[in-house]
Amino acid sequence: MVTAAAYAVTSAEGPFEKTTIDRRELGPLDVLIEIAFAGICHSDIHTARNEWGGTRYPVVPGHEIAGVVSAVGSEVTKYQVGDRVGVGCFVDSCGECDACRADEEQYCFDRVTGTYNATGRDGERTQGGYSTHIVVTERFVLSIPDGLELDVAAPLLCAGITLYSPLAHWGAGPGKKVAVIGMGGLGHVGVKIAHAMGAEVTVLSQSLGKKDDGLKFGADHYYATSDPDTFRQLRGKFDLIVNTVSVNLDIDAYLSMLAINGTLVELGLPEKPIEVRAFSLAANRRSLAGSMVGGIAQTQEMLNFCAEHDIGAEIEVISAGEIDDAYDRVVASDVRYRFVIDTATI
Ligand SMILES: [Zn+2]
Ligand SMILES: [Zn+2]
Repeated sequence: MVTAAAYAVTSAEGPFEKTTIDRRELGPLDVLIEIAFAGICHSDIHTARNEWGGTRYPVVPGHEIAGVVSAVGSEVTKYQVGDRVGVGCFVDSCGECDACRADEEQYCFDRVTGTYNATGRDGERTQGGYSTHIVVTERFVLSIPDGLELDVAAPLLCAGITLYSPLAHWGAGPGKKVAVIGMGGLGHVGVKIAHAMGAEVTVLSQSLGKKDDGLKFGADHYYATSDPDTFRQLRGKFDLIVNTVSVNLDIDAYLSMLAINGTLVELGLPEKPIEVRAFSLAANRRSLAGSMVGGIAQTQEMLNFCAEHDIGAEIEVISAGEIDDAYDRVVASDVRYRFVIDTATI
């Protein structure tokens, strides 16, 4: 057993406090990781504050984990001590269902195990990356290529794959016009990845406040959605729109910007059902779709792609004592563009 230091909340009101947690004894296929950085994802906040319900306290959030292997089980073949590795949103799945066999573990029919606030297949509760160490079965450990610094790599494990997977699935690339709704933690990585894939990239943001950044990250165009003229100008333009915003937008208005056979992919998870007029889909044979992170193989592909194209998240590194303030700033959209906890400060 490894006793790890961690930051946990014991109630929806917080605050985060330093504690210790026990990581399981290393099994034959387990990897012990000394965590270096953990990104702060909006899901962490929803969970810590019990905004989705079902949070079991104390909880240690964090599913954007980057670190170094410090021990391996007797049957581990993929990793050695000293390897640079990452862990994303999931730490286990059944491994046998159609989804798992298709390398889509995130859609495991028999329940994929979340990195925190979940029950592992051993019956123990999982605790996440706001911690000094974690034990994960090697099948769910990713290799972080040498070209990627661990701090900017951490947010790729959730934000990066959440964008990479739909962009790859719906064929973002040369000749394709792709729009990204929202320029936050998810959206800014989406702009970088879609640009590197060769697509013509447009940002649809509420205001032009982050326009300079958007163009620097690779966007070709940048429009404010607060300007009604934007929707007129861009009617029927895009092959693919990815929505990273977790609020209920006027989906019909965004669908009107899709070209024939275009697809709008929902990545945000607004609380209320999405309302859409059937006519908005019938016109131009449009599709409305969803997507949830990506499988392990594709996550590795994404990390390799990001290393090759020199893509990391734009980050602000904080100490563990600053988590509560960082949460408030994420909720206020006051971060450019992802907070990353330096776990050496735990
Ligand atoms: Zn996340
Ligand atoms: Zn499965």
